[in-house]
Amino acid sequence: MPSDVDETRRHLLAGSIGLATSIYAAHGVAATATGSPTTVDVGTVAGGKVTFPAIDASTEEPGSPPPNPDIPGQRVGFAVVGLGRLALQNILPAFAQCKHARLSGLVSGDPEKMRVIAAQYGVPREACYGYNEMSRIRGNAAIQVIYVVLPNALHREAVVQAAQAGKHVLCEKPMSTSPDEAREMIEACRRADRKLMIAYRCQYEVNNRELAKRARRGDLGDIQFVDAINTQNQGDPTQWRQIKKLSGGGSLPDVGLYCLNTTRASLGEEPVEVTARIHSPEHDPRFTEVESTVSFLLRFPSGILANCASSYSLHEKRNIRVLGSKGSAEITNAFAYAGQKLHLSHRDGEAAADIELSLGVKDQFSLEMDHMALCVRNNLEPRTPGEEGLQDQILMAAIYESAQTGRPIPLRMETRRDPFRGPPLDDQNV
Ligand code: NDP
Repeated sequence: MPSDVDETRRHLLAGSIGLATSIYAAHGVAATATGSPTTVDVGTVAGGKVTFPAIDASTEEPGSPPPNPDIPGQRVGFAVVGLGRLALQNILPAFAQCKHARLSGLVSGDPEKMRVIAAQYGVPREACYGYNEMSRIRGNAAIQVIYVVLPNALHREAVVQAAQAGKHVLCEKPMSTSPDEAREMIEACRRADRKLMIAYRCQYEVNNRELAKRARRGDLGDIQFVDAINTQNQGDPTQWRQIKKLSGGGSLPDVGLYCLNTTRASLGEEPVEVTARIHSPEHDPRFTEVESTVSFLLRFPSGILANCASSYSLHEKRNIRVLGSKGSAEITNAFAYAGQKLHLSHRDGEAAADIELSLGVKDQFSLEMDHMALCVRNNLEPRTPGEEGLQDQILMAAIYESAQTGRPIPLRMETRRDPFRGPPLDDQNV
């Protein structure tokens, strides 16, 4: 007895069966009487998922499997707080590629902007809140995570309010403007028994993860040096990034943080000493309150030196290089939203090999939001919890202190690998 699916396909084929038969004949292949395709063509449906077998030779790059996202009602709901550039340009569009997270609410100081955005993304009016209404989110069961995307100095208050509203928190980097604020945020989430994750998207990005994997398993030999740079040329001097009480600092907490955090995450070690220098162009209205260029050297317990730099007055460059005795790995555009390329250099017999890996494209914001969603659903510790953010705040405070005093600043010795991170990421997950 033919199934409904077969009947539908037979109908579709009726008009083209003659053409198909002649094409098969031209290739010496006998067409089936019904034209019924096999599972190779149409895939398999099982357990709420659709899968396709591989059809390319094992020499070829396998295609990506269908994402098989959770059904919308089962995804973990996020409310995004602060509808600025990052939220509107990157975070909200990234929900479309999420498998486990979905947008369920908005918080903004601008009701008209929020109305427009809510309509674009199908967020119900009753899930839109002002900053003075955060406590009301407690009653909205569709929201489980509050994602804080405000200027840096406003993170602390929003995270504390989110935890008090009984919600888990994803907080943009830098976590705060001081170690004390970061401690307060961790304590608020601990007291409310809620998870706190810092949005270090590069720790979820595939090229950065591949570099860390190769460096940690010894592919590069004995690693002795890291070189990381993140620069951009700022414009409008009136934006909050140039106002110290909102930003907490200049290029260091905004973009230099990527050099610091990615170096730490690539090596798994924590620095034991930091030395720094700062320079800002004179009489430049952008740098009356915050710094432009910061150069800092991290010394790690194994002896590795990391030379890092950030700037707000240099054309954009966002690379990291890890150098070992057997080879080196470099990611160009390492800290950008997209366009990462991982280059590996080593000796291959008589030849010097220089190869570029192609790891496919996955949206970093979707990956980190899905990670948070799975941590909430499965009650797991995020890979980048509040403690990871606090460690960077401590290190940035030491960098500023070194630049101010002209002295190297010694730091607490951490002997464990990844002392501030949650469990390693599951490859199925990101
Ligand atoms: P924007 O200036 O574009 O937006 C900030 C938004 O915060 C505003 O649009 C506003 O939203 C809200 N806001 C509330 N109070 C204030 C205030 N006093 N001054 C200014 N804005 C206020 O900033 P970004 O979106 O670029 O940055 C937000 C956060 O995201 C920062 O912590 C930043 O470091 C981080 N970030 C992270 C990136 C990453 O790659 N992970 C990249 C860029 C930024 P509303 O009108 O809705 O109230």
